[in-house]
Amino acid sequence: MTEPRVTSRDFASFGPATLDLIQPVEQLTADLLDIFSVSGEETRLADAVQIALEGIGGLEITRDGDSLIARTHLGRSQRIVLAGHLDTVPLPRAEGSLGTVPSVWRNDEGEQVLYGRGAVDMKGGVAVQLALAAHLANPAYDITYVFYDNEEVASELSGLARLMRHHEQLLTDADFAVLLEPTDGVIEGGCNGTIRFWIHTEGLTAHSGRAWKGENAIHKMADVLGRLAVYQPQTYEVEGLAYREGLNAVQISGGVAGNVIPDTAGVHINYRFAPNKTLRQALDHLQEVFDGYELDFVDQSPAARPGLDAPMAASLIASVGGEPKPKYGWTDVARFSEIGIPAVNFGPGDALLAHTDNEHVKAREVQACYQALATWLTA
Ligand SMILES: [Zn+2]
Repeated sequence: MTEPRVTSRDFASFGPATLDLIQPVEQLTADLLDIFSVSGEETRLADAVQIALEGIGGLEITRDGDSLIARTHLGRSQRIVLAGHLDTVPLPRAEGSLGTVPSVWRNDEGEQVLYGRGAVDMKGGVAVQLALAAHLANPAYDITYVFYDNEEVASELSGLARLMRHHEQLLTDADFAVLLEPTDGVIEGGCNGTIRFWIHTEGLTAHSGRAWKGENAIHKMADVLGRLAVYQPQTYEVEGLAYREGLNAVQISGGVAGNVIPDTAGVHINYRFAPNKTLRQALDHLQEVFDGYELDFVDQSPAARPGLDAPMAASLIASVGGEPKPKYGWTDVARFSEIGIPAVNFGPGDALLAHTDNEHVKAREVQACYQALATWLTA
């Protein structure tokens, strides 16, 4: 039996077909939440965003699938990317969850709080991007607004990666990028890289009543697990931020039946590594740790340096205030970093609420993020 899947068709009647970008940014966030856009079903939202951007005028708009690039041409000497993904993770399964579609406003201890799927990850950020596009008549920089699909799913589906493949020239002329993923209103620099791989051990099957005839592949795995158990993950400082690493078994498999000596076993391992290493150096480190074993790679994503030494980052930090922090989870700043654009995360809402059944953002948080970026971009 498969789970009944909630699709965009179930929500076709919810939400406005067009978006009013001039309304208060927290109301705009609510309108975005009301448009169902689970990964792979972003078309209705991408259409609404495109129509709204076309209505502003003065933007060069490029659509690719359900991703959009909108560029100002004001003749400024520097250009900034403001980027955000349009998709969300699937809706909560639990009955009565508030963090779903459509959104709900609640008054929590005197604060206006917006509940709904995507409230923090990351339609609050997308609302800020759209409100800036509509309101900033005379920014100090040219701006490239990027909205993309399929961030919450496998890397090969990424709308941002596709935009970089198809429209590289529309992205690489930027000097700096801000990704509006939720960071609780502080600047988060860079991100850890991530590598996943399997190690397999081989043996020889036999009846477990005559075990001496076989070779137990699960027992052979003990050496790999032993290396993991004694491994001391390090913390590295990069541009003043401390990045904690991790090397962990995340899955294990092996065994055929209760009376068979297993001839194969596998362990799935995830390495989260600091941005003091390139992908190559991280891979070399793993080859050392698991010397003698073949590593069967599933996924390899580079880390991103914090980019806080970029002059633009310094001006953003000065404008926003507060202490920058490291980002542990992998985000698309790494993709910008790969094409040579320093990038930071800065967006409204608490990232710990992302993907929860209770996803919500405070009106105040979205307003504050909008204000901070509007001030910086016009200074
Ligand atoms: Zn996100």
